[in-house]
Amino acid sequence: METLRRAAVPDAEESLDPVDWSDVRALGHRIIDDSINYLRDVRERPVWQEMPVEVKTMFERPLPRFSTPLDAVYRQVTENLMPYPMGNIHPRFWSWYMGSSNFTGALADLLAAVQGSNLGGGNHAAASMDNQVVNWCKEMLGFPPSASGTLVSGGSMANLIALTIARNVKAGVNIREDGVGAMERPLRLYASDQVHSCHRKAVEAVGLGNKALRRIPSDARLRIDVAALRTAIAEDRTAGFQPACLIATAGTVNTGAIDDLDALANLAAEENLWLHVDGCIGALLAIAPGNSYRVAGIARADSVALDPHKWLHAPFEVGCVLIRDASAHRGAFAVTQEYLEATPRGLASAEWLYEYGLQTTRGFRALKVWMALQEHGIEKFGRLIDQNIAQAHYLSRLIEQESLFELVVPTSINIVCFRYCFPRLDVAARKALNIEIMLRLQEEGIAALSDTTVHGEHCLRVAINNHRTRREDLVVLVQETLRLGALLTP
Ligand SMILES: *Cc1c(COP(=O)(O)O)cnc(C)c1O
Repeated sequence: METLRRAAVPDAEESLDPVDWSDVRALGHRIIDDSINYLRDVRERPVWQEMPVEVKTMFERPLPRFSTPLDAVYRQVTENLMPYPMGNIHPRFWSWYMGSSNFTGALADLLAAVQGSNLGGGNHAAASMDNQVVNWCKEMLGFPPSASGTLVSGGSMANLIALTIARNVKAGVNIREDGVGAMERPLRLYASDQVHSCHRKAVEAVGLGNKALRRIPSDARLRIDVAALRTAIAEDRTAGFQPACLIATAGTVNTGAIDDLDALANLAAEENLWLHVDGCIGALLAIAPGNSYRVAGIARADSVALDPHKWLHAPFEVGCVLIRDASAHRGAFAVTQEYLEATPRGLASAEWLYEYGLQTTRGFRALKVWMALQEHGIEKFGRLIDQNIAQAHYLSRLIEQESLFELVVPTSINIVCFRYCFPRLDVAARKALNIEIMLRLQEEGIAALSDTTVHGEHCLRVAINNHRTRREDLVVLVQETLRLGALLTP
């Protein structure tokens, strides 16, 4: 047998596998050990640090032509990459809005890559698990088992998939064959002025154009003004537009505001509109015992986008879209290709998952969600969501107790908008001061915040989507902000 195999394999044939597995075995073990230490010690490192010039220049090196031993390759990674992360796994990272990852999810990503399955579909275990995770997402939100869904790269893609289906269903023409030019009346979609920017990209990408998305004013609590929405819909009908879709936001990116989902579901039913919920931030409140009431009514939506790489802390990327009408979902994307015909048995005997979205090859995103859910159980994830919200309210109380701080927006869930208010500073100087405080907090590696402008008011923004944050981290934030504020004012 040995001689036969040797004879059949000419010397020139190569593979990417190592000649000797024992070297990579040792390195693989070391990478796991280093990774565990990296996460164990994350709190001791700066949340962010600027890359030195030598590091930046490494990323300008030309395409490698010849081989380098793997341990030398890994050394480049440990020296030049690992010390300079974005920082979102750090307990004091509260910029923008993202999850803080977890080690089980990282192991899952390794295993998914080792197994290497393509989630375009087919009859294999990874595809069954992908379906199972979608089913679990339905269950978490109270969607019926008959609904469909798909795992995608993130919330932006989840929203795009949903809006594509809404457009097709409401267009009144065969939009897949004839395109948007065949529509008799231009479609209109509605969202609050707090809507995430990905919806603009989505309406542009699906050929409706940015003007098709009407931004409705938000009220003092940053939720869509339902009366103004009603008026806008009536105006549009009179003007010859075709109102098609309400986009409710469950957790706006600016402040975490949650639109009145029941009121919007009622309005959508009255007006015969598709109701889509952008729940990238807030849909998973449905699993949090103390806060699920905030998204009551979410299961009445026609579609929901949610983001397991936010409040389930799955390593990037994984988003999910759920669609109540499974046939509308499949109808928007399915194409039967001669080279992908189903067979009665074997690998091609299961449903093609690529018929539920835009990708053909799909990564195995389900495993990182599946393993972490199995390990911790949904109740713990629910408690962690409640914990972040309690932390945000704790920080808000600290801010309110301090005369130099101003809470710019009442805190609803896990996003705190505040500013440092030194007396006698005009609006521009106050903004400059707050930006300088934010940059120093980053540059000194203390904490990562971002800033925003809400109803014209500039503020610092602390989005606590982080299972590593502790209350003492928030005390550090308050103390360091006060220190920097004092340092930067006369
Ligand atoms: C994060 C977010 C998105 C975009 O999701 P990605 O996963 O970043 O693509 C959309 N809408 C809201 C409200 C978000 O917070």
